[in-house]
Amino acid sequence: MKKVALVFALAVFVPSLVLAWLAVRSLRDQEFVLQRQQSLLYQAVTDTLAGQAKSLVADRQREFGLRVEQMLANNSASEVARSFDEKLRANWPLAEVGFAVTASGDIVAPAAATVNLEGQTFRAENSAWIANRDSAEVYSKSKNGMDAPAPMSETSFAADPSIASRKQEAPAMKSQNLYTSGQKISKAKAPQYRSVAPQQKSDELSLKDVRETRAQVQQQVSKITPAEAEFRDLVGEASEGTIARFVDNKLKILFWHRSPQDSRYIFGAQLALPKLSGELDEVTQQLEPALREEICVAVLDDNAKPVALSQKNFKANWKHPFVATEIGEELPHWEVAAYLLNPDQLTQSARTLKLTLGLLIAVLVLAIGIGSWLIVSDLNRQLTLARQKTDFVSNVSHELKTPLTSIRMFSELLAEQRVNDPVKQRSYLNIITAETARLTRLINNVLDFSRMEGGEKKYNFRDCDLVALVRETAESYRPHLENNGFKLECTLPSSPLPVRADTDAIAQVIVNLLSNAEKYSDSRKEIEIQVSQRDGPLPCAEVKVLDRGLGVPRGSEEKIFEKFYRAHDSLSSGIQGSGLGLTLARQIARAHGGDVAYEFRAGGGSCFCLRLPFTRS
Ligand code: ADP
Repeated sequence: MKKVALVFALAVFVPSLVLAWLAVRSLRDQEFVLQRQQSLLYQAVTDTLAGQAKSLVADRQREFGLRVEQMLANNSASEVARSFDEKLRANWPLAEVGFAVTASGDIVAPAAATVNLEGQTFRAENSAWIANRDSAEVYSKSKNGMDAPAPMSETSFAADPSIASRKQEAPAMKSQNLYTSGQKISKAKAPQYRSVAPQQKSDELSLKDVRETRAQVQQQVSKITPAEAEFRDLVGEASEGTIARFVDNKLKILFWHRSPQDSRYIFGAQLALPKLSGELDEVTQQLEPALREEICVAVLDDNAKPVALSQKNFKANWKHPFVATEIGEELPHWEVAAYLLNPDQLTQSARTLKLTLGLLIAVLVLAIGIGSWLIVSDLNRQLTLARQKTDFVSNVSHELKTPLTSIRMFSELLAEQRVNDPVKQRSYLNIITAETARLTRLINNVLDFSRMEGGEKKYNFRDCDLVALVRETAESYRPHLENNGFKLECTLPSSPLPVRADTDAIAQVIVNLLSNAEKYSDSRKEIEIQVSQRDGPLPCAEVKVLDRGLGVPRGSEEKIFEKFYRAHDSLSSGIQGSGLGLTLARQIARAHGGDVAYEFRAGGGSCFCLRLPFTRS
């Protein structure tokens, strides 16, 4: 049995537990997996919108070029250059300042004497640089020029432990940065940091291991790096371009255009950023309606302040979007960022998913546990039954052999006329009769049992008096008992107890009880039969068979009625039996609508009660 349980545990239970454990482990990552899926989805959204923002700037650059060409169509370049600032501002709302520069670096417009404040500031900020006396840090895109150099390797940077301290220094570096491209661009500066730190919501999860920490730091390094260049080098031979530059931490975007008609002048425009921001609002409105219920999209400037929002009233910690994409060299440090409208929803969904899967696993483990227990206990029962059947065969063989040996021995003695004493002859004959009766009883029990198991047992019910039936059966058994030294006492009522019964079957029950009382008695050979009417809600006739023998051990009171069960083992007690007598007795009584039960008897011994219902009148 232990072996079966062990094999079962190894083959089914342990693998199931291992699987359950693996499933529970995978549950812990559910929130991270969900977040990852969401971030991939929304990242695609911000990437697309950032692309659209780039195209918008490129469209405005083209538009600017067309305006310059229109102005040059009717007037000479030098004429246009002189009043370029005023005319451009008057015709093109996106222009904050219009500038015209000669090939040698002289700023023709805005004129030195300009009264326009923006024009004056422009000259102050740019004259040294445009005159090529100075270089500055820039990001740029030009039509046939080259872009600023690629950013420094992110992997090598992410491994650097001093990253946190350098991050703090980053904003200071913006003060004199120009963002452009050009032919002679000097080395890239130290890595720039993004103005936002995406995926902050996932800090708890993603900072769990170092690899993910590095990934986060990499995310915060800008992909757009400034390069140091002079104006002349930036413009080179190209026809138009965009230059971005930070002056005192303020972003300045310059469009420039050189006409193919007259390449002596370069015309440019410094953009009015609030106007450009207004146009970028269109980009955020491109967000699909379905996604509007989940996220808000914002265009953030280099200080992580929203300049355009898909949902106007939305508020958030702007520096920590769920995902964000840098727009590019055209608008350095500007980002298209997505914010979750309900950040807790993700945690809630993950929690619900975890709970559902957790419950499923628990139910599965429970089902496996209960199933295993049922299988093991059934196996146990089957094995016990198999053992009892084997015991039964050996017990029955023994029970058959013992009376047969006595019958054969005494009949041989009588047949050979070796015993002449009539008293002895009489006693030998009595033994032969008793042993034959015992054999008959045993064979009847076995036959009846097999009939009952096959459902073939037939009863011949008829009305009879239970008192008379008990008296008759007890008297027929009395000589056998008294011959073996027993005292049999019968307490019977004077009036009859009418029952409807198969008299042979009930007599068999009483003989089985008497035979047990005889078998399981030791020195006190006293047997009693009491017949009475049992009162109660359902009055019935009751026959009690009492002895002063071994009694039934505790815990076996009900088991003794199970087939083949023996509370007193043949080997230890030396008492032979088949384990069928009480099973038959109970089945017969129940077929009559009654029962057989064991009751504790004070003072030692056993008390077995046969109860039968009265005949219905
Ligand atoms: P068996 O052939 O073993 O006597 P039974 O079905 O008649 O089979 O009885 C089942 C078991 O109940 C016995 O093995 C014995 O342990 C117990 N038993 C039955 N009658 C008595 C009794 N009068 N006193 C003590 N134990 C009894």
